[in-house]
Amino acid sequence: MRRLLLASASFVAVSALLVSPAAAGDPPITLPSSPKGPTPPVTLPSGVDPASPYLPQASCSPIDMPGVVKLRALVLKTYGEGGAGAIHHGCTEGVSEHSEGRAWDWMVDVGDKSERAAAANFIGWATANSGRNARRLGIMYIIYNKKIWAIYRASDGWRTSSDHTDHVHISFSWNGARGNTSFWTGKVGTIDLGPCMRFTGTYGVRTSVPRAGACPSSSGKVKRTSLIDRQYGTTGATVAKAQALLGVPKSSRFDGPTWKAVSAYQRAHDIPYTGVLDQPTWASLSPSSVTASVVSGYGRDAAIAYGLEHFSTRPIKQVDVGTQVLFLQTALGMPGADRNGYFNTVTLARVKKLQASAGLTQDGVVRAEEWQAMAAALQ
Ligand SMILES: [Zn+2]
Repeated sequence: MRRLLLASASFVAVSALLVSPAAAGDPPITLPSSPKGPTPPVTLPSGVDPASPYLPQASCSPIDMPGVVKLRALVLKTYGEGGAGAIHHGCTEGVSEHSEGRAWDWMVDVGDKSERAAAANFIGWATANSGRNARRLGIMYIIYNKKIWAIYRASDGWRTSSDHTDHVHISFSWNGARGNTSFWTGKVGTIDLGPCMRFTGTYGVRTSVPRAGACPSSSGKVKRTSLIDRQYGTTGATVAKAQALLGVPKSSRFDGPTWKAVSAYQRAHDIPYTGVLDQPTWASLSPSSVTASVVSGYGRDAAIAYGLEHFSTRPIKQVDVGTQVLFLQTALGMPGADRNGYFNTVTLARVKKLQASAGLTQDGVVRAEEWQAMAAALQ
């Protein structure tokens, strides 16, 4: 009886597929009723990781994230089918999470019987029970054979998408990309909301620690240049100009060594760590290209006077970004390359040095006392 029910159920599924392959909710290929999945390296807890919200690509980095690398190896070992496929791509494509190294293309062709069977097993295993295993891996969405399934819309089932007939695209939450989920650790993970944009219209800032709360406030750009933003994967004379300034081999292509050099430069100069040649970075690298700055015309004493008048009642502190920080950096007499309107470690060190020499508490927060100390130091 049980066997008969199963047989008729699969007959219905097959005929539905033949009659209406694009029916709402249907999977992209026939999925097995008892799909074979990869074995976790740890004992799984009874709890399941929360379903990730949609966390679209917001930054740019040519790094394959560790959780994605581990799953790729495990899937290839489990099924022995398909090509490894890429994780990170250039940052010049659409919003796919590949630019952040948190998406993987498993090269399994829907037209190849054994590759399709492997895909069916993995997809069936990941999406069963409202995506229980997808949650354990931090899978955000899967695209295959013109259909998309998303954990944040699991109740909608499979929706219409496009292409992806020769590979399964899998996008991961930041937690999944870091490998910080129960499938790998045996502990239910929390959601990591990922990078935050600091200057409006730039890429998000890469972080090494998970983010649970809202992003700190962002600012409009405090400096603009005549140079165009460039990111990993782009080519041309503007990239070559940056390579000359950074002292990396001049390939005219925004390649891995260039990304590393840009990232290191940003960290050294307190520029939001985006790995992208954006306006704050260009303004620092190539001061002669600056076309607009909110402190243009302000020397050190004028900046101190302006700060005393406008910012004395508004403490300025680490992670702040914007006009007030640019005035502070100018008032502190910081080198031009470090005046970018972003208050992080380089600026913090300068503020503490000022506080030490003025006999103030070295807490790194700039209040009226600090502006007064700057004015006094100039006399
Ligand atoms: Zn993809």
